[in-house]
Amino acid sequence: MAMMGGIAGQLREVRERIAAACRRAGRTPAEVELLAVSKTFPADAVREAWEAGQRVFAESRLQEAEAKIPLLPGGLHWHFIGRVQRNKVRRILGCFEVVHAVDSLRLASHIDAVASELGVFPRVFLQVNAAGEETKGGFTPDGLRGEIDGLLAMPRLAVEGLMCIPPAGPDAESARRWFAGLRELRDELERRSGARLPGLSMGMSGDYEVAIEEGATQVRVGSAIFGVRAYRVDGELG
Ligand SMILES: *Cc1c(COP(=O)(O)O)cnc(C)c1O
Repeated sequence: MAMMGGIAGQLREVRERIAAACRRAGRTPAEVELLAVSKTFPADAVREAWEAGQRVFAESRLQEAEAKIPLLPGGLHWHFIGRVQRNKVRRILGCFEVVHAVDSLRLASHIDAVASELGVFPRVFLQVNAAGEETKGGFTPDGLRGEIDGLLAMPRLAVEGLMCIPPAGPDAESARRWFAGLRELRDELERRSGARLPGLSMGMSGDYEVAIEEGATQVRVGSAIFGVRAYRVDGELG
């Protein structure tokens, strides 16, 4: 856990860094949504961030989120950033407004069908695994080129854009080419499909400033706000 008052201070610092990165890139902070990644941290930590003005949070494990969310004020916005298991889609759509890691046409189609039954229109991001890492989900860029029209045709899915988790590297700069690549792929898919894909969900505690310089609209920041996680979330990052 961060020290007393730590979360508000860390949040302030992250917001300042976001604003500075926006200035460098000729963008405005309003174009970048900060997702506070609260996985492994208790509801009290989320409440502390909420008291400091944060309203958008992200979790990567359903069970943990289902226990935490009811303890918190309504009116918070929850994004699911973990791997999506088909048999949990109904529950995920019950808790979360946005799903960041849609990684196959088959999964998208299932989410679409469940959303139709529930009468909801979830916002989704399509995860891209440009490095072809076996430990991570995601479309290959070529796979996405082939399937984008089918994905955009799903009536219930509000496809907002693309998401990536770049390969681990020695420093933030090493992630830049993956972020730039995601933006270029997005631009190409927009030209091909004629649809708008405004969202780029990319950048975490170690590299969100670089991600913003390369066009991120959603940055997913956990440890820089809440402190070092005491345990790993199975199957997920850190
Ligand atoms: C945990 C996680 C994050 C946040 O990671 P930090 O390095 O703590 O900022 C972002 N995105 C995903 C998909 C994650 O699983």
